[in-house]
Amino acid sequence: MAQARNLTCREASRLIAPYIRKEIKTREAEAFVNHIRTCPDCYDDLEMNLLVHNALDVLDNDRATDDFDIEKKLKEDLDRTELRIRKGKKRNRRMSILILFVELLLILLAVNAFLPAVGDVIHRAGEAFITFLTGLFT
Ligand SMILES: [Zn+2]
Repeated sequence: MAQARNLTCREASRLIAPYIRKEIKTREAEAFVNHIRTCPDCYDDLEMNLLVHNALDVLDNDRATDDFDIEKKLKEDLDRTELRIRKGKKRNRRMSILILFVELLLILLAVNAFLPAVGDVIHRAGEAFITFLTGLFT
């Protein structure tokens, strides 16, 4: 997967609302979180927006405000978003490996059809393949 490109402050600013509403796309989220982590101006901007959003949320739902720590909440939120991005990438990597092995297996099966002598080798490769997959997805 391509490295997330850097956002300008203007682009980051446009993503604040989708981010808060959790409607931001994973690809955008990565660039956005990277920018927020490194740009104090946009961080303050996001914090202010989140503060307003939460205040409205509290008013709407008539909830207590005593444990309201915006800095902590924002940090947790950014961490959660980064975790989600990392998990998504890991899944993509696993899928690529899986596809590669399936292709390899198909090639081996094709070879086996023409050269029955290599059947034993293919049988062992198949077993190793299944062991590998079991490890990968558990
Ligand atoms: Zn910025």
